[in-house]
Amino acid sequence: MSEQADSLYRRERLFIGGEWRPSTALDSIGVISPFTEQPVGRAPGTAPADVDAAVAAAQGALTESPWASWDAESRADALDRLADALELRAPATAGLVTAENGMPISVSSTVEGPGPARTLRYYAQLARTVAQEERRPAASGSGTTVVRREPVGVIAVVVPWNFPQSLTMFKVAAALAAGCAVVVKPAPETVLDAFQLADAAQEAGLPDGVVNVITGGGDIGAYLVGHPGVDKVAFTGSTEVGRAIGEVCGRLLRPVTLELGGKSAAIVLDDADLASAVRGLAWACLLNSGQTCYTSSRVLAPRGRYDEVVDAVADLARSLRIGDPSDPATRVGPLVSARQRDRVESYIAAGRADGARVVTGGGRPADFERGWFVEPTVFADVDNSAAVAREEIFGPVLVVIPYDDLDQAVAMANDSPYGLAGTVWTSDEDKGLEIARRMRTGTVGVNFYNLDLGAPFGGVKASGLGRELGPEGLAAYVEYKSVYLRR
Ligand code: NAD
Repeated sequence: MSEQADSLYRRERLFIGGEWRPSTALDSIGVISPFTEQPVGRAPGTAPADVDAAVAAAQGALTESPWASWDAESRADALDRLADALELRAPATAGLVTAENGMPISVSSTVEGPGPARTLRYYAQLARTVAQEERRPAASGSGTTVVRREPVGVIAVVVPWNFPQSLTMFKVAAALAAGCAVVVKPAPETVLDAFQLADAAQEAGLPDGVVNVITGGGDIGAYLVGHPGVDKVAFTGSTEVGRAIGEVCGRLLRPVTLELGGKSAAIVLDDADLASAVRGLAWACLLNSGQTCYTSSRVLAPRGRYDEVVDAVADLARSLRIGDPSDPATRVGPLVSARQRDRVESYIAAGRADGARVVTGGGRPADFERGWFVEPTVFADVDNSAAVAREEIFGPVLVVIPYDDLDQAVAMANDSPYGLAGTVWTSDEDKGLEIARRMRTGTVGVNFYNLDLGAPFGGVKASGLGRELGPEGLAAYVEYKSVYLRR
């Protein structure tokens, strides 16, 4: 392993105020490979004093550094330079994410490696087109109002382990485009890849303190979220933690964006071409071994084609190659942790106890002595009220539920505590759009599911508050100021 690769897997310092500073924490954070169950690397822990320093550095960037006076064009150029620096690192980043969380390399090398640069370039372009100030004739008829878009300020960015690079950049790119400064706290499971951003920020010449990267678990996350120097919190993670963060931010009257869990429905219509639908379902339902917030993990099938859909989905699940996540042929890797595997297995047991039928999977694959694997599992004869149909499992487990007519299908899709995503599978796209309009959810894909950087992403109900991506994602980091002029 080269010297540089060594340093990617072993970090000694935190990135605060544009420099590498020793942590004041006594602990460090070890990352364990979900495939080999052996250590991958280590990063320093973070103590509250380090959070104080990171928040102070971000505040300094907004008041004392050139960042505060740069216009949108200069910020956009900086975002493009950051994108260049991240692009150079993309293959290493993809490999690192795969080593940390077991994401199949075919996914990390198309999403986690190159994705952050794409998001930055999108927001750089948007920053160039959105006016920082506009003049409006006052509605009263006399005078003029100058409406300014000002940065919200210091943003606490708290992210999970499942798509650590993409989810961090959804927040950081929009925040920087708006002129904010960020303190990023990754999940302990994927703490190492977060420092790729720090390396790139240094290389891109971002002013000191604009990007700060710290570490830590839930306690440090909570300390950061409630810190008096933070102006807004941008969180992706579980609904449970999101609720706790929402409560804190409510008390503090602090703006917050929450991207939380999901239990989305795939509605297969009577006219669907199953052969092509099934190819799309592999991505929409089982991406990253099912550890994806927007997966359509409830498949709703018309009763007349129920057996056919169950068989097709089960064939799909059986066909996905399970294995070493760093092998490009692997489609299903291990789950991120032994704890996550326990959780998924407890849901499989609950499904069985509720009388659902395991069509395929249901256990651990036989060929592996190590690694936190669970076989892709398909349940049939599931009631929409069962725990496996209502709760987020976050693993390769699908349930197939029959429906009698479209009204019932839409009602079942909407009968969920969550509302993040969903898909409709049909040979008539107009009909698909019609169904999508009736689904109470933040996003819907017709015959595929692909996030669009240019459109808002987020959820309703227990799936979250606010939106990321698109111009709406930029607006989330802007405070409006109206200046009234007499003339
Ligand atoms: P998690 O909620 O346990 O942790 C997420 C992050 O929050 C981690 O960095 C963690 O250290 C930190 N944290 C934990 N407790 C905290 C607290 N009290 N205050 C502040 N920070 C705290 O989630 P996870 O297990 O890492 O990720 C899986 C979850 O993320 C799933 O529920 C999944 O659906 C959700 N997710 C949602 C989206 C989305 O866009 N809606 C995307 C990906 C993942």
